[in-house]
Amino acid sequence: MFQLSLRRRGISNQAVLRAMEEVPREVFVAAGDREHAYRDSALGIACGQTISQPFVVAYMTEQLQPQKHHKVLEIGTGSGYQAAVLSRLCAHVLTIERYRTLADTARARLEKLGYYNVEVMFGDGFDIPPGAGDFDRIIVTAAMEQIPDSLLQRLEPRGILIAPVGPHHGTQTLVRVTRTESGFERKELVDVRFVPALRGIAREL
Ligand code: SAH
Repeated sequence: MFQLSLRRRGISNQAVLRAMEEVPREVFVAAGDREHAYRDSALGIACGQTISQPFVVAYMTEQLQPQKHHKVLEIGTGSGYQAAVLSRLCAHVLTIERYRTLADTARARLEKLGYYNVEVMFGDGFDIPPGAGDFDRIIVTAAMEQIPDSLLQRLEPRGILIAPVGPHHGTQTLVRVTRTESGFERKELVDVRFVPALRGIAREL
């Protein structure tokens, strides 16, 4: 049913559909929300954040055009669900979260599921350590008022970045940026709503 509803909404990449089917979303939602885990809606998680709606996760993953050998960066781990889906499709995922509680919980979940190619880092996605290197794909799952140039510079040649861009409170546009030989190519995809990307690590747990 889950796959069928994603297909109906236009997701056609078989590998993406398989990954969505494989990752148990009920493990990533709050205990009281398990029965709603396969509904197509965003749900609240700890620290006042949200796990995105399955269609948006599938859509962003498809638009990212992930490949088996790719090294991927995610900004905004949240529950770890998007990272889990990507881990089924790529070689390595580094995901960064500014709430320590969320990072720790997501790390434990991903380990328990045996998704060993995901590294969860507690930190600020606006300040990626240089030692992390560059990435074939970057996915931002929190709303940015604009995409920092320093982030675009972390894309490998022909790399792709996807991010919700727009006001923190309101509707954003999902933007896909591709690194080309001459610079960056930008395409606006669809309207979305994400929680804001905030600078610095969270002071609260
Ligand atoms: N991808 C997540 C949902 C993301 S919700 C999932 O699959 O569940 C957005 C997350 O981005 C929140 O957890 C928020 O704390 C985090 N975030 C916001 N700004 C950030 C920043 N600068 N660096 C890292 N994480 C950030």
